[in-house]
Amino acid sequence: MYDMIIIGAGPSGCFLANEYVQKGMKCLLLEAGEHYQRHTYPRSELTGNSKLYWSGGIELNSRADIGFLRPKAVGGGSIVNQALLDPFDDIAFDAWREKSKLNFFKKENFQPYYEQVLNNVPTQEIPKEFRNRNAEIFKEGFEKNGYQCAPLVRAQKNCQYEKGNDCIECLNGCRIDSKQSSAITALPKALDGGLELRDKMTVIKIEILFNKCYVSAVDEFNEQYTFESGYITLASGAIGNTKILKMSGFDKKLPALGKNFYTHPQFMSLAFYDEVINSHKGPFQAMKSDDANFRKNNFKLENVFGPPVALSMLIPSFGKSHMQRMKDISKIACIEVAIRDFIPGEIKVNSKGKVKIIKNLKGIDLETKQKGLEAIHNIFKSTGAKEIIDGQFGIGLHLMGGCGIGSSDSKSVTTENFHLHSSRRIFLADSSIFPSAPGINPSLTIMAQSLMASEKILKEVS
Ligand SMILES: Cc1cc2nc3c(=O)[nH]c(=O)nc-3n(C[C@H](O)[C@H](O)[C@H](O)COP(=O)(O)OP(=O)(O)OC[C@H]3O[C@@H](n4cnc5c(N)ncnc54)[C@H](O)[C@@H]3O)c2cc1C
Repeated sequence: MYDMIIIGAGPSGCFLANEYVQKGMKCLLLEAGEHYQRHTYPRSELTGNSKLYWSGGIELNSRADIGFLRPKAVGGGSIVNQALLDPFDDIAFDAWREKSKLNFFKKENFQPYYEQVLNNVPTQEIPKEFRNRNAEIFKEGFEKNGYQCAPLVRAQKNCQYEKGNDCIECLNGCRIDSKQSSAITALPKALDGGLELRDKMTVIKIEILFNKCYVSAVDEFNEQYTFESGYITLASGAIGNTKILKMSGFDKKLPALGKNFYTHPQFMSLAFYDEVINSHKGPFQAMKSDDANFRKNNFKLENVFGPPVALSMLIPSFGKSHMQRMKDISKIACIEVAIRDFIPGEIKVNSKGKVKIIKNLKGIDLETKQKGLEAIHNIFKSTGAKEIIDGQFGIGLHLMGGCGIGSSDSKSVTTENFHLHSSRRIFLADSSIFPSAPGINPSLTIMAQSLMASEKILKEVS
């Protein structure tokens, strides 16, 4: 019998687990993905995608025009992500306060928790001398068009760029432990503090009977286990938490469950140049847009570069001509627009547990995309691009909502004390409780929010 079972070992799960065990709670952390070490991460793009993500690499919306990357590993998204850490601004918190009707969503209330996270997660900017040509084109284009950009801040310690390390590799997990994932920051402390971790254990159902929680899970061989605890923390992300709750019958008492799902849909545009750019070499994503006008218009631009397989999906050609185009990969520059989406999607789950994601880009979100594309074209054209291809396939990397936090039990799922409206034994503080899309990288706030929540949760359970 455990005091707390935490389901999902992403940033939220790892940070919360650490707070709980440091206060003497007996905790079990269950994670569907594998606990990789720096020398065991999958090394090829194809095996990386299939081993580190749910559903073999990608999940699609019902129209199959947006793909969602849902991480599956101990460390969750912090293993595969770009590790960019940005605090929220007033615009993001004001919107959250308005939607949730909860007054504590204010920058000054989050500041101490941001600081606590950053004391535990080292960050760096990419030094100027190591920026690749793609980053330079991005910066040049911004300057020529009067847009503002700024260096990105990444959770990393020592990437040893002088050795020729390519960032593109670390999207499959960092083989030199420079990327500061939750698996190497919060988790080791939690394990030292007595946390029990079971990886490759997928939770299928939770139940509360006579003030005890029961968690049913299956291992990689489909063998079933039931674990008992006083309380449960759901930290399985927007889709994971919604699915577990729906499969466990909680949707009957939580009408907003699965609703208000946001993803910051991102679209990549590629430009062919005469010169060699090698966007996939060395550190990429050194710069980000930092433009008040872009923020007002609800988009941001990043000089990201996709791994070759992902990139090939965006180039509209087949067979021999496609091979020909892909041979020019070294001459491609790439900028993506990330949209702060206002029209929410919905996560549905059928009786067999199959997830259906309704999330279409329309209305104001489509207009935002067009504004972002205009800025990208200006940047490419002013820096000598020969041809521009706008990727038609959207990607959702920031999966948020489904269990939104708020004061109303009909419009939200999670209370201001971070438990379900329908149960004081089930807590949540991860990306699933976001009330709306902030338009800013979410990880830093997920970790800060988890630290803030841990104080309230520890009071509730003591
Ligand atoms: C390619 C990529 C790049 C990104 N780049 C950035 C970035 O630069 N900056 C940023 O801020 N954000 C970035 N993100 C988003 C960020 O990683 C996520 O927002 C963040 O990881 C969410 O944290 P979480 O704890 O809420 O959930 P997750 O990190 O998704 O963790 C949830 C965990 O729960 C597990 N789980 C789910 N269901 C079950 C179940 N039934 N049983 C057991 N375990 C389960 C999952 O396997 C997963 O490991 C990126 C994401 C991706 C995919």
